[in-house]
Amino acid sequence: MGEPVGFLYAHPDDESFLSACLIRQLADEGHAPVLLLATKGEAGQKNGYAAQATKEELAAIRVKEMEKAAEVLGIAEVEHLGFPDGKLDTVDETLFLEAVIRFINKYRLRIVVTFPEDGGNFHPDHMAISRFTTAAVLSGRCPSVQKLYYTLSKTLREKGYEPTFIVDTEQAWSVKAEALRAHTSQLLATEKYFGNLNVFPEDRRYESFVLYWERGQRWPSKTETSLFDDLI
Ligand SMILES: [Zn+2]
Repeated sequence: MGEPVGFLYAHPDDESFLSACLIRQLADEGHAPVLLLATKGEAGQKNGYAAQATKEELAAIRVKEMEKAAEVLGIAEVEHLGFPDGKLDTVDETLFLEAVIRFINKYRLRIVVTFPEDGGNFHPDHMAISRFTTAAVLSGRCPSVQKLYYTLSKTLREKGYEPTFIVDTEQAWSVKAEALRAHTSQLLATEKYFGNLNVFPEDRRYESFVLYWERGQRWPSKTETSLFDDLI
């Protein structure tokens, strides 16, 4: 197995929305993307075959869908914390923090990617996993971590933050579309955001990441060509 690179998100499909092409690229380069999801997504939409699903059934469906997406993207390991979807901000803080620290240390991650403080879209679950991932990295209890990236949000852009690292999805759009399609129960929401997945969405072209923390320095202003730039 190549070097693990950690992605920490809230729901099955967050990884594909925000970083499908980056993940596939890392896997193709011989690295081992690993994914921690705080919930199983049981509060999500129930389209198509999931229309009649109970919460428990939807959780099981979405874990299955996630397995398919992971295969498409070359994710080496997916772990689900199984905290309540839509209510991450009510989870016991110590429990949540310890779970995140355990994941980071299990894979001795040097590189960690999560949502920014605003969750990208102010979703409380996204904000919660961002908060606990950041707290874990800054706790001093995850000594392997050298870099913490945030997915670049609209509000960060408006505040003047520039991406550190960008992936253009045009070449690999079919891969991203396939990963998004694997989350079949969520397809209506997905197509609301990206449009028809058979058509490359010019206005959703880039996956953008900003370096929030690098070996003790916050918001180091730089541009990179690889997440592995400047690692020691
Ligand atoms: Zn989400």
